[in-house]
Amino acid sequence: MYDFLVVGAGFSGAVIAERLASQLDRKVLVVEKRDHIGGNAYDYYNEDGILVHKYGPHIFHTNYDDVWKYLSQFTEWNGYTHRVLAFVDGRKVPIPINLTTVNTLLNKNFTEDELKDYLESVRIKLPEVKNSRDVVVSQVGEYLYEKFFRNYTYKQWGVYPEELSPEVTRRIPVRFNTDDRYFTDKYQGLPAEGYTELFKRLLKNDNITVLLDTDYREIIEEVRFDRLIYTGPIDYFFDYKYGRLPYRSLHFVSETLDMEFFQEVAVVNYPNDHDFTRITEFKHMTLQQHPKTTIIREYPRPEGEPYYPMPTAEGREIYQRYYKEASALKSVYLLGRLAEYRYYNMDQVVKRALEMFSKLAREY
Ligand code: FAD
Ligand code: UDP
Repeated sequence: MYDFLVVGAGFSGAVIAERLASQLDRKVLVVEKRDHIGGNAYDYYNEDGILVHKYGPHIFHTNYDDVWKYLSQFTEWNGYTHRVLAFVDGRKVPIPINLTTVNTLLNKNFTEDELKDYLESVRIKLPEVKNSRDVVVSQVGEYLYEKFFRNYTYKQWGVYPEELSPEVTRRIPVRFNTDDRYFTDKYQGLPAEGYTELFKRLLKNDNITVLLDTDYREIIEEVRFDRLIYTGPIDYFFDYKYGRLPYRSLHFVSETLDMEFFQEVAVVNYPNDHDFTRITEFKHMTLQQHPKTTIIREYPRPEGEPYYPMPTAEGREIYQRYYKEASALKSVYLLGRLAEYRYYNMDQVVKRALEMFSKLAREY
């Protein structure tokens, strides 16, 4: 007999399980269909002994003091600051677009003020920002939009930015100075001993049982529990009764090279060249020393593991129908990127889990 059945051992499932077990002394069964914990943040040492992220680069960053403080009980951080270059017109330039990016591409020597004037002269003044294209052209104009965003977004999502809600490209700021950090959050880094180690510590509690390699449906009739916390895809939960939600998937192609480093930084984006969106070289972010190096290329595709909820009106509409139905269910709680169908970062998911825990704690 368990108090809670938690479906999924990613950030949302692991954090809520840890809180319930350690703070409320509840018995929790975590059921995970994959053969490992960690969800999409899972990392492991590959056959050459290099620490890699199985599901693409994961950099933790947050402005939430409570989230950082909470996770820091289970890990130290390696102090990594994320930087990304984009390969455009044969050159690698900083993205987010900053002073260096524009000066390099346009062969200029703008100061910060001159850059502001330039962008003011080329930006498209729109009465309303309605989609992901509007977000970019209203800040930097057509030319930079075409070079950095239009084709990358098409590759990544299978649609042009016009069809995506503003939140997608709003993730990427524009900077007038030479700050080339990808994230400027108060806190950032990778868990010093990796994400999987962090998850092991989160789930190491006598009140928590973890069952891997198991779809929750295989056991749901056999286990007794009071409440269900579901972090898998919401359309699967309802057997697709309102249709399949659109997700974007990725195919990861990994390669280990007999050289110390392959590229200058952890991630290089390829907006206009190749079928892949970006190349990640893990050693830059894990800070591991090794004579060889592993890179992965990400090839977006429509079918496969549901990595990204599609931020489109159509997706939201279908989701709302599922959400309404789920809200009417007693003792079922939806949590995380797949169950809530939101383009959440890791810290947002942890925040959601902590909030859900506070709510549950008040009820008990
Ligand atoms: P998940 O990690 O997806 O965990 C859900 C778990 O539920 C999975 O393990 C799944 O196997 C399991 N599950 C599903 N269905 C069932 C079932 N029927 N039965 C049992 N188990 C089931 N965020 C950042 O903050 N920084 C980054 O740099 C970053 N990079 C990313 C890069 C990529 C390529 C991707 C795809 C995402 C990235 N993210 C990043 C987002 C991050 O992965 C998510 O915010 C986070 O993993 C969400 O956690 P979750 O627990 O909600 O979902
Ligand atoms: N994007 C782009 N060009 C870039 C980087 C990002 O067009 O060089 C757009 C693209 O639509 C992408 C979105 O901005 O999906 C968000 O980028 P982010 O790096 O946050 O994506 P994630 O790491 O979540 O895949």
